Amino acid sequence: MKKLITFLMSILMVFGIATMTACDNAITIWTGSTGGTYCAFTNGLQTQLTKKTGYTFNVVGDTGGSVANLKAIGSGDCKMAIVQNDTMVNAYNGFTSSFAQSGAITNFSVIGQVYPEVIQIVTDDANIKSLADLKGKNKTVSVSIGDVGSGVEANAVALLKEYGVDIRLEGDKYVSNDITIQNLSVAKSAEAMKDNKLDVFFFTSGAPATSITEIALAKPVYMLGLSDAVMNKFISENKIDGKYDVYSVQSITHAQYDFISEGQIVKTIGVSATYIISNSVSEEVAYNITKALWESKGSIGHAVESTMDINNALETIGNVPVHPGAAKYYTEQGLTVDNVAQI
Ligand code: GLU
Repeated sequence: MKKLITFLMSILMVFGIATMTACDNAITIWTGSTGGTYCAFTNGLQTQLTKKTGYTFNVVGDTGGSVANLKAIGSGDCKMAIVQNDTMVNAYNGFTSSFAQSGAITNFSVIGQVYPEVIQIVTDDANIKSLADLKGKNKTVSVSIGDVGSGVEANAVALLKEYGVDIRLEGDKYVSNDITIQNLSVAKSAEAMKDNKLDVFFFTSGAPATSITEIALAKPVYMLGLSDAVMNKFISENKIDGKYDVYSVQSITHAQYDFISEGQIVKTIGVSATYIISNSVSEEVAYNITKALWESKGSIGHAVESTMDINNALETIGNVPVHPGAAKYYTEQGLTVDNVAQI
C-alpha cells in the first residue's frame, strides 16, 4: 500500500511539474488590428520563435493595439505584447486619460524595440494636402483618429492640435467643430474609405501596413506629410514627463507604398514598436525569447524587419525597465543595460 501511494504521488509530481512547465512556456502575444503591422509581423515571428525556443506562442489579433495590449498584460490576460513606446511609457507611469481607470501598469518589462512605427495620414481627397486644410471645414470632412483610447488616437489628436484643428475631449470621446470624428481601427478605416464614407484616417504602424496597401489597390490615395517646423516643435514639446524622448522624425517613400511616387519623401513622426513581457515570465524563458527574436531577423517575412537594429533595442524606453532575461542577452551582445526589472 505504501509503495502504491509513493508510486501515485510520484506520478502526480511528474504531471504537476510537466503542467507548470507547459504553462510557463505557453506565451500568449497580443498584437493589433488584422490589417496592421503588429499582427502581420508577429505572425511571421511566431514561426521563428516556436522553431528556435520550442515554446508555444498564441498570437492574438484584432486587439485594440497598444492601450488594450498593455491593459491585457496588466490584468494577466497575456504574457507578451507589442506596443508603441510612447503608450508604454505612459502606461508604466499611469499618465494620460487612457490609464486613468487601470492606474499605472508596472508588472511588465521590455524585451526590445524592433522597428519604427510611423504616423500615417491617408486621404482619398486630392484637395487635402495638409492637416491644416482640415481647419474650418465645418464638419464636412470625416476623419478617423483610431480606436478610442488607442496610441493611434493620442498621436492623431496631438497632431491635429499642432495644426490648429479644433479637437477636444468630451467624456471619453473626442469632438470637433472642424471635422467629423470617427474612431475606427485601420481595417475599418480602409473599408470606410473604399465605400466613400471616410476622407482621412490616421494609423501609427510599421509601413507598409496591409490595410493601406490594399486600399491603394482599390482607389487613388495620398499620404500626408508633416512640416519640419511642426515635427521639431512636436518632438520637443512631447517628451514624456518633460524628459523621456519617444518620438523621432521618419520618412515614408515609394519603397513602402507604390502610390508614393519615386523620389517623393513623406516626412512624419515615428515611435518605436516594442515587445514587452510580463514579469511573471522567468529569466530563462525571456532570455530565450529575446535571443530567438534577434536571431530571427531576415526570416520573419515582413518588410519592416530590415530596420531591426539591436543597437536601438533599448533606445527610447523611458523609465520602463528591461526584463532580466533580455538584459542578460543584451549584455552578452555588448550592450549596456541600465535599468533591469526586479522579478
Ligand atoms: N501602433 C498601433 C497601436 O498601438 C497599432 C499598429 C499595428 O497594428 O501595426 O494602436
